[in-house]
Amino acid sequence: MGDFNLTVILDAIRRSSGGLSRVELAQIVGLSPQTISNISRRLLDQNLIVEAGKEGSGPGKPRTILRLNPSGMYAVGVHLDPAVATFVLLDLVGAVVQHSQIKTPADGDPDAVIAAIAGEIEQLIQASGVEQGKIAGLGVAAPGPIDHDQGTVVEPPLLNGWDRVPLRDALADATGMSVLMDKDVTSAAVAETWAGGPSGTGSFVFMYMGTGIGCGIVLNDEVVRGASGNAGEIGHIIVDPDGPPCDCGLRGCVKSSCIPQVLVAQAQAAGVLDEAAPLSGGPAVQDGFARLCEAADAGNSAAAAIIDKSAVLVARAAAVVANTLDVDRVVFGGPFWAPLSKRYLDRVPELIRQNSDAGNIHAIEVVGTGVGEDVGAVGAACLVLEHTLAPRAQRLLLEG
Ligand SMILES: [Zn+2]
Repeated sequence: MGDFNLTVILDAIRRSSGGLSRVELAQIVGLSPQTISNISRRLLDQNLIVEAGKEGSGPGKPRTILRLNPSGMYAVGVHLDPAVATFVLLDLVGAVVQHSQIKTPADGDPDAVIAAIAGEIEQLIQASGVEQGKIAGLGVAAPGPIDHDQGTVVEPPLLNGWDRVPLRDALADATGMSVLMDKDVTSAAVAETWAGGPSGTGSFVFMYMGTGIGCGIVLNDEVVRGASGNAGEIGHIIVDPDGPPCDCGLRGCVKSSCIPQVLVAQAQAAGVLDEAAPLSGGPAVQDGFARLCEAADAGNSAAAAIIDKSAVLVARAAAVVANTLDVDRVVFGGPFWAPLSKRYLDRVPELIRQNSDAGNIHAIEVVGTGVGEDVGAVGAACLVLEHTLAPRAQRLLLEG
């Protein structure tokens, strides 16, 4: 996959909805018909594209349409959340071929977690029947902050003992695959651009509802990672000035007033949940949170009040980011999104509209993810596809 022009052509085919003819490709990418023809031949020989029917009713020969070949290449994606680890095998068009999920080991010991992940990946590939040689690599979505250069996870919440764990290299050793790592919120945004359909185009903020709340940023179809790969840390936006104290010394930050752990504690204090002691570990928090949302949906007014207030607070944070970046859309998703989706989608759009400075110029659309619950893992696998397929300036320099 060394050739820059080859990736330019693949990228153009990938971005088209129904495939492209050689003539259309030449017009779009600005290469000569001869070059297009030669590269198409190479891509067909590598099984990365297929000829998919003919098109054209006007004068002249009908044109053969070129499309990506779904089974031409695959990628594995892992999303490590403190509550649950999700695994997917994606084909070349970004469709999920195989999926699995395990509870993240509660004691969080890094060696045990890494061994469990590697074992699950082996089973996933085996169950899919895809030959190893067709798998381009492994992508990992990890809770932030991360050290992008070193491939380390730096003290994520609710993963005890995870201080600068070299997750990327450890997984490369354990699986023998080449590994790319990104922050979970960024992976989710990448997934939305590849597999989210209309909600993944243009400029949007992906509000990631996980053990923590963060956002992924896409501006004009480009994923924004920031100087160190940690863009989107919104935990210390103040959304409730009289709210609970935060570890930063201020009050009412997102992190101290509306993440799942905090809502579960409020539900305990209000008697919605039976347990008195704080729930420790990711899986316990996820379980308590699911019961809180169920109670709210079943008409428990204390539970509903907790969730509805969190919608107001999260909407404030989302509005700050949406206003700062002037986006078209706020997309919600992440491991804790599904049980919230109905109540949030009923309330958040109007709340964001009220807080939108550009509201008179363009509306901000609010939607749930088009990718679904696996969005972090799908995004991690998309990192591999993107790394392998997308034209990059670096590639041009190396080959120039
Ligand atoms: Zn704070």
